[in-house]
Formats: sequence, structure tokens, C-alpha cells
Amino acid sequence: MTDQTVTTPRATVYGYPRQGGDRELKKAIEGYWKGRVTAGALRQTAAGLRRANWLQLADAGLGEVPTGDFSAYDHMLDTTVMVGAIPDRHRAEVRNDALDGYFAMARGTQDAAPLEMTKWFDTNYHYLVPELGPDTEFAADSTQQVAQLREALALGLYGRPVLVGPVTYLLLAKPAPGVPAGFEPLTLLDRLLPVYAQVLADLRAAGAGWVQLDEPALVQDRTPAELSAVARAYAELGALTDRPRLLVASYFGRLGDALPVLAKAPVDGLALDFTGPGAANLDGLAAAGGLPGKRLVAGVVDGRNVWINDLSASLKTLGTLLGLAGRVDVAASCSLLHVPLDVTAEKDIDPRIARWLAFARQKTAEIVTLATGLARGTGSIEAELTANKSDLADRARSSLIHDPAVRARAAAVGDDDHHRAEPYAKRTVGQRLRLNLPPLPTTTIGSFPQTDDLRAARADLRAGRIDAEGYEERMAAAVREVIAFQEAAGLDVLVHGEPERNDMVQYFAEQLSGYLATRHGWVQSYGTRYVRPPILAGDISRPGPMSVRWTTYAQSLTARPVKGMLTGPVTMLAWSFVRDDQPLADTARQVALALRDEVADLEAAGTAVIQVDEPALRETLPLRAADRPAYLAWATEAFRLTTSGVRADTQIHTHMCYAEFGDIVQAIDDLDADVISLEAARSHMQVAGELAAQGYPREAGPGVYDIHSPRVPDTAEVTALLRKGLEAIPADRLWVNPDCGLKTRGWPETRRSLEHLVAAARELRTTLTADA
Ligand code: GLN
Ligand code: ZN
Repeated sequence: MTDQTVTTPRATVYGYPRQGGDRELKKAIEGYWKGRVTAGALRQTAAGLRRANWLQLADAGLGEVPTGDFSAYDHMLDTTVMVGAIPDRHRAEVRNDALDGYFAMARGTQDAAPLEMTKWFDTNYHYLVPELGPDTEFAADSTQQVAQLREALALGLYGRPVLVGPVTYLLLAKPAPGVPAGFEPLTLLDRLLPVYAQVLADLRAAGAGWVQLDEPALVQDRTPAELSAVARAYAELGALTDRPRLLVASYFGRLGDALPVLAKAPVDGLALDFTGPGAANLDGLAAAGGLPGKRLVAGVVDGRNVWINDLSASLKTLGTLLGLAGRVDVAASCSLLHVPLDVTAEKDIDPRIARWLAFARQKTAEIVTLATGLARGTGSIEAELTANKSDLADRARSSLIHDPAVRARAAAVGDDDHHRAEPYAKRTVGQRLRLNLPPLPTTTIGSFPQTDDLRAARADLRAGRIDAEGYEERMAAAVREVIAFQEAAGLDVLVHGEPERNDMVQYFAEQLSGYLATRHGWVQSYGTRYVRPPILAGDISRPGPMSVRWTTYAQSLTARPVKGMLTGPVTMLAWSFVRDDQPLADTARQVALALRDEVADLEAAGTAVIQVDEPALRETLPLRAADRPAYLAWATEAFRLTTSGVRADTQIHTHMCYAEFGDIVQAIDDLDADVISLEAARSHMQVAGELAAQGYPREAGPGVYDIHSPRVPDTAEVTALLRKGLEAIPADRLWVNPDCGLKTRGWPETRRSLEHLVAAARELRTTLTADA
């Protein structure tokens, strides 16, 4: 070993990307599902990836490697297996074959629905939600955790098993089907703790010195009862005899009131986030009296964004922390699962910019550098510090990412720029005259089926089998098909169908200056689904129109209004890696200005209806209530800046989905869009009532067709939902539309479903006229 690779006991991480450099894991698992890869071969691939990760980490100089963070689908599902909380409907399958049973819980089978999937805190990773009830009996199954620990130990490494902690596991669970919604899974804590005790004993017996218990749910607002459950849980686990040492980890923010509770608990160490809002943990820790005699793992390297660390600033934090704990180790703020693997794989990124980027591998090196500096003094990392200073200085002033014109324009934005000149009550008069729509107008959310044919066209273009012209002709043919169908079906406001969009964020990111694309920057979204978020690296501007061509082409084919379709500024940020050198509000404002120009160009081209999608507005709501007003203020302002430059008779739509909207109804109102479409079919139009209760004064289209499954709703069903909607929203303000875009659907069910939707609207219009 050379001096640089000397193992530094103070450096560690909580988890590492699972997929491998070439997404080998995805290929093996999907191959297994298709019967092309055997279970044995899949296990071998998985073990090979774990081994490669560990050796990479050890080689970088990490003294302690995580084990058990690897998963064939999701670590929450692994925890469900570990505690034996298998839903009844999957028990037979799991007993029959553990691996098939595992995937059955994740993906469902013909007879048994999968576990519900939802977002892991405010990341874009999705976990499978445990289903619990008063009758749930837990049983310890430490097989996987023990096996993975043994693999690392066999390589001669110091492995630290990482488990989802018992409190977070219960707080993220929901009542099983058939269990009353009021059931609180946390009431099962006393039943769950003995299972954790057993797993800890098994891991100890297998050779674990430390075990990490992740409790990220404690960075959310928690009630006193929940905090006392935390105290009870760790008093009990801490009191076990013959247990490994316990490290309780939190990430994604500050612990707040939970910090003193954990600091007092009889555990051996805490891992805390010191990045972003987690920086408040520094004062929190001091106020709680520090962790005398205990281990503190300091998450000072941002584990969920892609920028290099400010090493000097981190060293300063670490120096302060030295006085607050018995031992201080260095880590990333959270598992590195949330960032891509390796910047050096990105050959297309300007090397001057690549120097400012750190993916999992580069972050690991930063952690080791910091740990070395902490252990042996800054003199031992002089070269790294100098290089880091110069990279940060370059980034701070580089003309590659700073555009004075963009900044000047953003600085000049005034209050008038984010308010429409006329109130809705006046705008609607002109819009009604211009559009001349019937009551209960019908429309869709934008995308039509992304067929194999469309995907093949994109692959052909990439592979050079067709040229740009050939590609565009295939897209144009798709637009013609979509327009013809909508006319025949009798929809009122048409869309072009978005055939040209691979992804609603990527499509615009590729056309904006200031954004970078990666080639291999895959990040797990759920299971075997990986996304490649674009990197919002610099000041944002729009070299030219982005969507006008397809919208006007579609409009040229029909006399009915065609809606222009854009992705909103908040969603553009939420589904990208965002620059960390200025407030999000400033970045959002730049994106909004670029989109505002697109809106203006669409309007100038004759587009009378423009939809700006914000499906991510609800999901990036901060985890703590205290942080929400500030977020909602800049988010709604960015939306209004995008949309408020239009004429009064241009109708602005927005769309949101994937969420419950109850707690952002005020923000929805603040957007001042003329029309909003929302996901609502599964919740039986609940949102219509919520909007009405708030006195929502504008037009709304709560979805009446659940597009998440191939099921075709019949006309009566749609009519029933519309009647429900009419109880809350009057007919002249109620729109008729599906829950979301149709890109994941096939044509046959799309056709029939939309025909039923139009039939239901027509039927109700007749009744309305008869009544009047
Ligand atoms: N216009 C987009 C579509 O229809 C909206 C997608 C979304 O809300 N996620 O696909
Ligand atoms: Zn949607």
C-alpha cells in the first residue's frame, strides 16, 4: 500500500450505489424476471457487485465499510423481510421461494397486489411501504444481514451492518389493507424491539463490532409521544447485554428535539448530517451537551448532490465537533445511493466543469482526505486543500457558468412580473369568448402512449440508422395520429401528445444553456428503475424556442385549440441535481425567466391555452413545517413569473400529481393559474372537496380516469365521479380529464377510456341543460 491508501479508521459511508458501473444489477434482475438469468447467476452478480464496491471503498482508504445496505430491490423491503412482516397475501409465495416471494412483494403477481411504493423522504428514491396491523407478529430473519457481513469480513474488511432503525421502520409503515386507517404502526414498537435485539445478537455473533441503525424519520417534525418512543426504543436496545456497539444515524436534515433524546440514549454513537439544513445540528449538539466519550460520525460531505466539497469549511466544522464528542469520524451526509457512481465516466462533460463535480467515488475520496486531515493535521493534506481551493475559486467566477445578462435580468424582476395584469374573474370572460368551450370541457394532461415505435425511432436516431429529418417525420406522424384521434373522440382542448419527449425534464434541460447531461449518471429511482437527472450547473438561459414547433404543427392540423405543454420551474429543479452555490429561489427564478420566454413565444404563435406542469411542487415540500412557507413562497413566485406575462385571454393551465394536496391548497391558489388538473380518481375526487372548502375561485379538473393501470373505466363510473366533482365545483368551472399523462399506457385502453370520458361529459351536459 502506498501512503495515500493507508486505511483511515475515521472515514466511512452509510451506503453506496448498488447498480454497478454498467447497471449490471438491473440487467441481472430483469433477466431473472424474464427467465433468462438463473437465481444462482443473479446471486453471483449481486455478490460480485458488493465485493467490487467494498474493495473500491477500502482501496480509497475507508476504514469501515457498510454492509447490508445493498439490496436487490429496496432496503425497506429487506427490512420487512428481516422483521418477518410479510403481508398475508404474499406468505405462500415467500415460503415457496424466498427470492420470487421477495419480488412478488415488490412487483405484485396475478393474484396479489404489490406493496405500495412511495418516496423516501424528499429524495427521488422510492421505498416499499410496510403494511402493519394490530395482528402483525414479527419474527427475526437475519439471514441476509449476516451473510453480507460475513462476505465483507471474509475480504478482511471491517464491516458495519446498516439497518433501518425500528422507529423509522414503524413511522414509515401504514395500516395493512382492512386495518382501520387510524391504526398507528408505532404502537407495535414493543413487539418489534425483541426482533431487533435478536438481529443485533446474530450480527454480534457473526463478528459485528458496530451496527448502524438509521433513523432518518427523526429529522421530520415528531410529537412528544413519538420522541418518547425513540427514548424507549434506544433505552431497551442499549440495555441489551452482549450486543454490538450501536451507532444511530440520521440524515436529510436537523434532528431538532430528537437530538437531546438520542444524545441521552445509552447508545455508543450518533451519525448526524451537517450539510444544508443539517448544519443546525452543530448548535443542537452543543446545546445537548455534546457526546462525551461517544462516537460522532459527522456527515459533512453532501451525499445527495453532485458538487465538490469545500474541504476547508468541512475541516472547520470537524474541528469544532472534536470538542463535542469522544471520537469524530467523517462521512457523507447520507447514503451515496442518491448520487451517480463516478464522474470520470463522463467523457462529454467539459473537463473544466467535471473538476467541480463529485459523484460517489469522488465523495469517498473527499471523506478520506478530510479524515486524514483530521487525524494528522492539515499539513498531511496540503496538496488536496490547495487543489480544492483553486477548483472552488474557478467555479465561483467561471464564465462557463456565470452569465451577467441572465443575472442582470433576474435582478431586475419586479413584483409586476409575477402577477397577471387582470384578476381571474376578468380574464375568464375573454378566455371564454376566445375558446368558446362547452361546460365540462374535456382535455388530457399532455402525453399520449410512448409506443415501442417511438422509442425505436429515438434508438434509431442515436444509432445513426435514421437522420434528424427521418426522426422528425416519425414524430410528426405520431402527432397526426394523436390529433386525429382526439378530433374523432370529441375532446375539446387537444394536445400534441409529447411523442418527442424522452422525459419531461430532460427534454427541456437539453435545450437550455446552463444544464449538463450525463451519460452514465444513473441513480436508482425504485427497484430496477434508474434515472439520469440532468445537472443544473450554471446560469440558465434559452438559446431558442423549445416546444413551439410541435405545438404549432399540431395546431395546423385542427381547428380546435391545442394546448402548449411545458415543464414548470419547480419541477425542473426537483428532478435535477441543482447548483449549490446560490439559493434555490435564485435558480428557480432564472429557469422561470427562460420558460417565460417560451410561454411568450407560444402565445405569439397563436397558442390560446398553455399548460405548465408542476407535478413535483408537492413532493419537494420541506420535511419540517417551519421550512415550508419560505419554500412555497419562492416556488409559487417562480410559477407565476413563468406564466404571468401572457394576455388576459390566454388561458394558463397547470397540472399536479403523485401527492395528496390537502396541505398545499393555499399554494395551489397562489399559483393563480386559470385551470388546474389534479390526480384524483383513486381518492374519489377528494381534492375537489378540499379545493371547494378553501373557496378556490378558478377552474379545476380533478382526474376522473386513473392512468396508473390499464383498466378502462366505463362511462357510468366517470359520470359518477363527475357528479361528485359537481357537488364541489360548479359546471362552468369543472374540467374533465384523466389523472395524468398517458405515456405509460397502451393505445387500446387509452382510446376506450377517453371515449368513455367524453361520453360521460356529454351525458352530463345534456342533464345540465335539461335542468336549466
Ligand atoms: N404533461 C406531462 C404528461 O402528460 C405531465 C406528466 C406528469 O405530470 N408527471 O406526461
Ligand atoms: Zn401528472
